[in-house]
Amino acid sequence: MTDIFKKLIKRLEDVKKLKEVSVPIEVDEHGYIDKECPNKDCLFQFKVLQEDWINILRDEQVFCPRCGEDAPADHYWTTYQLEQAKNQAIKLVRDLLTKGKPFPRSIIPIKASDSFELHVKCDLCSTNYSVQGSGFYCPNCGNNSIEKIYANTLSKIKAKIHSADSIQNLLQNQGLEEESKLIKQSIFRECLTDCVVAFQMKHSYLFEKYYGEKKSPNSFQNLEHGEKNWKKHTQISYKKILGEEEFKFLFIQFQRRHLIQHCASIVDKEYIDKTKDSTYKVGQELFVTKHDVMQTFDLTTKLTEEIEKEAHNK
Ligand SMILES: [Zn+2]
Ligand SMILES: [Zn+2]
Repeated sequence: MTDIFKKLIKRLEDVKKLKEVSVPIEVDEHGYIDKECPNKDCLFQFKVLQEDWINILRDEQVFCPRCGEDAPADHYWTTYQLEQAKNQAIKLVRDLLTKGKPFPRSIIPIKASDSFELHVKCDLCSTNYSVQGSGFYCPNCGNNSIEKIYANTLSKIKAKIHSADSIQNLLQNQGLEEESKLIKQSIFRECLTDCVVAFQMKHSYLFEKYYGEKKSPNSFQNLEHGEKNWKKHTQISYKKILGEEEFKFLFIQFQRRHLIQHCASIVDKEYIDKTKDSTYKVGQELFVTKHDVMQTFDLTTKLTEEIEKEAHNK
């Protein structure tokens, strides 16, 4: 057997020994570690204080702050972390086979994303977590801290809507005309999504609070389905609360949220069929205006307040 073969066999044996590659993951500036919901329809990004992730959270069960999904802790790696770890493992094996590099290896820690805007400490178990936009369940105990966070989320949305103009001006003054438009549009899309998510979460919470029945936030994502839930217990009619025109407007905004989150804001046939919105054709990109967002904000909060009153008085 030639030396080359011997060398190759030795290296293959080294690869076999390499059962596990551990890649360190960095925390953000506040000490929080990135996590991602394993539910394919959600994939919500959130963070947990690393200290709490180690000391408080349990291996068997972690909750997603947005959709409430529960899964074992090791299902919550982010797509980015998994990709980075995979790339490093592949590189390691390749180096080992081609260059026969000895262990320990040069592994680069995986970077953390920038810190998120909303920091929450659970009232029940004291777990610290942070979210972008809205997320209401504690990742550790699943406690629904909606009462506390809902108001907070609404004021964050309002602040975001109002900041859009000044951000646009700022960028325009730097000569970044195109970028300023793109960023403003992405802020409005995000605000529209946040309004719908806050609405769903609050409705799911109120429903359980008043009727003791657990309904997922997703069952309030479509206005017609959501109304059906309430009708089992009350005379609530969304159209009666909002009026025909405004109900139609809100229905369209809820369908637009679906396009933003699942179709890269491109209008599809399903959207046109459902909404009969004649301002768009299939394949066009959605454009969210400030008026759309403010109106959605007002109508979702109005609907929520009226429903809470009605459910409370029953
Ligand atoms: Zn989720
Ligand atoms: Zn908790």
